[in-house]
Amino acid sequence: MKLVCGNALNYIDSLIEYLDLFDKIFIFSDFDGTLVRFKKNPCEVRLSKKAFYALEKISKNSKIITAIVSGRKISELEFFLGNNLLKNLNLFGCHGSEIKFKNMDIEIAAEALESNKSIKSIQDIIEKKFINTSGIIFEKKENSFAVNYRNILNSEKKKIEDLKDAFLEFEKKYPVRFLDLKKVFEIVPHNINKSFAIKATVKKYCKTLKENSYVILCIGDDITDENLFMGNVNGINIKVGVASLSNTNANFFLNNINEVIMFLNKISYIN
Ligand SMILES: [Mg+2]
Repeated sequence: MKLVCGNALNYIDSLIEYLDLFDKIFIFSDFDGTLVRFKKNPCEVRLSKKAFYALEKISKNSKIITAIVSGRKISELEFFLGNNLLKNLNLFGCHGSEIKFKNMDIEIAAEALESNKSIKSIQDIIEKKFINTSGIIFEKKENSFAVNYRNILNSEKKKIEDLKDAFLEFEKKYPVRFLDLKKVFEIVPHNINKSFAIKATVKKYCKTLKENSYVILCIGDDITDENLFMGNVNGINIKVGVASLSNTNANFFLNNINEVIMFLNKISYIN
């Protein structure tokens, strides 16, 4: 099938026809900004009923293998998704450092472990330096460290540049990668990105699948999701939140979370 760039909902019939050609469909979806709306406090996001039902339908479809790939810790994803959904979902936290295949325990990607000490040192220095900055939230994770500055006071806005400069300096000295996300700065192990989720899942599930018998579909809204798209060059990639495909490696877009839910609902009927 020739993939034409545009809104995925406008091409839904051809997309379903294309997906139908394969025995298995892997869906990798980001969480914040893709399935749930951003909140001032990241702890306050909630999965809407519509998003819940769409996820429930695709994750219960035996032809589809569904994974959520997020910068959040797996423990947070578990809290927001709830036990009913978790039974059928694979989870990747901390941009791929944390792995939890359905009904299995959490594993840490071996590649992430070598950067742990450096990330802990950077976290200590940043926390000490910016402890008195109002409106920023430090997010300590197993294998990464993030600073959320969504609620920073206007009077403190200069500190955002200081924070960014500090992180960029650390990136030069340590085996870490700096991510400039939506109102969040984060450092992650230098050799980890979301495409790990694709490699790990395909390795796990494809032992019994013939090559070319499966297709991968990735959905995400942020810069880190570009790694998903780049790790899925032969598949379908959907960027959320842009009306233009000029700055992304995706071949389709959806305008917002509502459109993502509509799209997942339609895909869920494939059998
Ligand atoms: Mg996102």
